[in-house]
Amino acid sequence: MTTTTRRRFIEMFPIAGAGLLVACSDKAATPPPAPMPAAEPPSIAAAPAEPAATQVATGGAMPMVEETDPTAVSLGYVADASRADKSKFKTYAAGSACNNCALFGGKPGDVNGPCPLFAGRQVSAKGWCSAYAKKAG
Ligand code: SF4
Repeated sequence: MTTTTRRRFIEMFPIAGAGLLVACSDKAATPPPAPMPAAEPPSIAAAPAEPAATQVATGGAMPMVEETDPTAVSLGYVADASRADKSKFKTYAAGSACNNCALFGGKPGDVNGPCPLFAGRQVSAKGWCSAYAKKAG
């Protein structure tokens, strides 16, 4: 390599290198578009809502005791004291009802109210069961 050729190469190399840098920096200056965030999976968005029946049952007052409930059956609970099984439950006395029972948690005039024998549920104020205990007073 002659001196002239070497000098010429050195003169040309920075130009070629600069050209390369410009070409690379152009690509670096315009990065590829960021990937779009993934949409929520449709299975989550379309998750079924709580059944309407459950919402109704838990949305308001305590549910009523069903006469078919095992505890109710064993205690002879009826929602209307006049239907009490008088032959089976000899302690029944005319006029006795939940609303004049010592265990009734409702206020005077309430149609329904809680009873500790049926936690989380209400009994009818006109109801009766064999655990009836006349309210004092
Ligand atoms: Fe009604 Fe008294 Fe029986 Fe409770 S204990 S269900 S209030 S009669």
